[in-house]
Amino acid sequence: MITAPNLSRLDWLQHGFGQRSSDYPSFITTLRQVHSSLVVEAKGIGGDRIADGDALVTGPEGPLVGVRTADCVPILLADRRTHATAAIHAGWRGTAENIVAATVTDMAGRFGTVPADVVAAVGPSIGACCYEVGPEVVHRFETWVPDMEQTQEPRKVNLRAINELQLRNVGVADIWVSADCTFCSPGYYSFRRERDEAGRMLSFVGRKNMGRSMPSGA
Ligand SMILES: [Zn+2]
Repeated sequence: MITAPNLSRLDWLQHGFGQRSSDYPSFITTLRQVHSSLVVEAKGIGGDRIADGDALVTGPEGPLVGVRTADCVPILLADRRTHATAAIHAGWRGTAENIVAATVTDMAGRFGTVPADVVAAVGPSIGACCYEVGPEVVHRFETWVPDMEQTQEPRKVNLRAINELQLRNVGVADIWVSADCTFCSPGYYSFRRERDEAGRMLSFVGRKNMGRSMPSGA
């Protein structure tokens, strides 16, 4: 399990970015992920794959929230003042739709979150080293990477960097970004490398004591 130094400093919080061999707390609430920018509140509907969407938010009384990824970008948010939390699944479509901004906006409306209080962690995902995309995908990122059209073929996209920029643009300043590429490293599942053989890694966040630990062997 990978942890982010900035989230680890919050003594009320537990979190983790899963790897191939990770064990997870039980009772992590998740979504049926559909590559959207839909944000869903987890409280009161806790469970596995509770609804369609790609960002789960919850207040201080809510459950652990999580997302499943294998190359897409898992992003965890924690509001150090209100103790609201969020787990985000950002593939290229979610990134193109600025799902991180949609999530911070939702937290502001629902919990009174101020972006300056948000601690953010952008987890292991396919890196620019390995993520080649076609022109139709490049086109979707011109807003955040204006010079991308001028770069040489093959075009590589850095989804983690774009999500970091989108977070900064809405006022989030405390951001940790993983350097790990899921495609390069055998420690991670990678959809591009393993296709249908690829498992999924779970990344989760929430208040301490909200999930009982589960024995190994999953
Ligand atoms: Zn790589």
